[in-house]
Amino acid sequence: MPVRDELPVRDELRGKSPYGAPQLDVPVQLNTNENPYPLPEPLVERIAERVREAARGLNRYPDRDAVELRTELARYLTRTAGHEVGRANVWAANGSNEVLQQLLQTFGGPGRLAIGFEPSYSMHGLISRSTGTGWISGPRSADFTIDVASASAAIARHRPDVVFITSPNNPTGTAVDAETVLALYEAAQAAKPSMVVVDEAYVEFSHRPSLLPLIEGRPNLVISRTMSKAFGAAGLRLGYLAAHPAVVDAVQLVRLPYHLSAVTQAVALAALEHTDTLLKYVEQLKRERDRLVAELRATGYEVTESDANFVQFGRFDGEGATHAAWRRLLDQGVLVRDNGVPGWLRVTAGTPEENDAFLDAVRALKKEQG
Ligand code: PMP
Repeated sequence: MPVRDELPVRDELRGKSPYGAPQLDVPVQLNTNENPYPLPEPLVERIAERVREAARGLNRYPDRDAVELRTELARYLTRTAGHEVGRANVWAANGSNEVLQQLLQTFGGPGRLAIGFEPSYSMHGLISRSTGTGWISGPRSADFTIDVASASAAIARHRPDVVFITSPNNPTGTAVDAETVLALYEAAQAAKPSMVVVDEAYVEFSHRPSLLPLIEGRPNLVISRTMSKAFGAAGLRLGYLAAHPAVVDAVQLVRLPYHLSAVTQAVALAALEHTDTLLKYVEQLKRERDRLVAELRATGYEVTESDANFVQFGRFDGEGATHAAWRRLLDQGVLVRDNGVPGWLRVTAGTPEENDAFLDAVRALKKEQG
């Protein structure tokens, strides 16, 4: 619902609706790119222990600098992303949305511009707007890859202060290669000193390695990550970034004091102790994602190459047909996402049973459509 016009809200927020996927109570929910597996019971026990410990100190403010958590996140990145980082390179906040907000508060703001290559994660534009940063919708090719020449031309024309590159991209699943990121970084720095933010929310599901090693020698490059997807902890709200220590210092200027509660820090630390188990679920989800791609193609759908835990499929003939297909799947108890990309829907990889239910529903849809 748009916010009431009578309230004296800021001009740029007038008539706008809040972000949010429909939260409908249906049997098979494959619409928000969550991890379908509940946390394993030994981890639940460990969380309870860690939270009990934290509760004894809740009369005090939490560790403002989240030293232990940042140390463990750095250890995780060093182990999995092929590049050594330390606590000074890492910053954490309540979900990567808050990380992105802090980056825009620091490097964007009134009179400044951010660019992203759309269709992409719509919150990049929305957080830009809510921080007073102008938003430029940059181009993407018909196959949803980023064309270096046209993206660089858009950067040269608009001279943005912040450049968003989402890899793997949401909602298309498209990964971006290191050469493209490097070319856009060069294009951005040639236009003016600016920050390039690589949003790697889904990178653990990718066929390709993380772009994290690119931060070496590039102080204006930031990698954004989250525990919402691979760690199966969307409810925890823990996002983090890796970058040159100067970036970590800079975001301190805008972070609220004690923004990361002691409970959040305790739960995230418990989850990090169980990284190996959680990454096994990631392997299972990657296999299921690849199965969805193969089965959708075998059923006659077009599928965008996916490096994420979701798959974009279509094509439906126009906005009406796309919405009608979404509705038909919902009638069969399967909720997928209509991201407003004309002709395409997005399905999150769920458990094998959920994916079977989805595949039955899309096969039935194909039969109806002939
Ligand atoms: N980046 C991308 C590309 C996403 O798709 C999402 C979640 N949908 C986020 C960031 C934010 O995730 P969180 O705030 O849960 O870390």
